[in-house]
Amino acid sequence: MIILLKDKVNENQVKNLTNWLEGNGFGLHISKGQNHTIIGLIGDTSRVDMDLIASLDIVETVKRIQEPFKSANRKFHEDDSVIDCGGVKIGGGNFQIIAGPCSVETRDQIIDVARAVKASGAGMLRGGAFKPRTSPYAFQGLHEKGLELLSEAKKATGLPIVTEIMEANHLPLFEDVDVIQVGARNMQNFELLKELGQTRKTILLKRGLANTLEELLMSAEYIMAGGNNNVILCERGIRTFETYTRNTLDLSAVPVLRRLTHLPVVVDPSHGTGHAYLVQSMAMAATVAGADGLIIEVHNDPPHALCDGKQSLTPEQFDALAKGIRNVLPFAVR
Ligand code: PEP
Ligand code: MN
Repeated sequence: MIILLKDKVNENQVKNLTNWLEGNGFGLHISKGQNHTIIGLIGDTSRVDMDLIASLDIVETVKRIQEPFKSANRKFHEDDSVIDCGGVKIGGGNFQIIAGPCSVETRDQIIDVARAVKASGAGMLRGGAFKPRTSPYAFQGLHEKGLELLSEAKKATGLPIVTEIMEANHLPLFEDVDVIQVGARNMQNFELLKELGQTRKTILLKRGLANTLEELLMSAEYIMAGGNNNVILCERGIRTFETYTRNTLDLSAVPVLRRLTHLPVVVDPSHGTGHAYLVQSMAMAATVAGADGLIIEVHNDPPHALCDGKQSLTPEQFDALAKGIRNVLPFAVR
């Protein structure tokens, strides 16, 4: 349920109302927008007397919300959320490209790629240290060493770092990480999401391989229900019957999510397509569709990459992509 307050309201009256609502056991989500203040009620609102609240002097309207996600709902928070990522902002017109290798492999690799993507305009560096691989015999990442090398690359370039977490016990290792990625395979690892909700770290939540957008938003809700509102959503393609692409990149997810939620939405055309030759066109399409950012795999030697070389761009290809994005950004539908 949301309570929209009138334009000019007295702070004391607002306080009386919020105290009364809290006293009745509701969690509150208060959003002060440019024009209105909105109070979102979290909890079982079926027993609330809507007419009574609507009759209060300071209340403009009261509406029930149909969707099961509350904190992530745009009806609770009409302005886009702007999320801090280690000093770099995303959302609300702040467009960011996150770029880097699928996995951190060596010091030279991560630092060279970090310098190259920064020079091309990337705002953040990605690189996996704990890798979710289909085969237990495949490269699993450098683990703690990988996180250390990412920190070195951050020091060398100033780029905030983005890397995937696979289990909550690893959280103490992620102190220097600016954005913690929850990968597609863990989108519904609810215990992990709850633990991340207890932190105030920025979380990049990727859509699961076979999950609906409502399920993605409910997973964001798990994090936000713990009080952590620093969530960025990521469309990274879903499983379909198509075999020419690794996944089917659902670009309609961008305007759908932007309508439903105030959280920033980024698109991953690397995992979304699985092929380097498709990445630039899909990145440009995602940008025009209104995405708040992109996450792109870039490797200094894709044929020899330990993970996802086929979909990785060279630094030169990434530079061309970044130029393409700058050209189309003014045409984004928002
Ligand atoms: C990745 O970003 O390297 C990754 C494993 O992504 P996803 O979880 O989307 O497959
Ligand atoms: Mn990858």
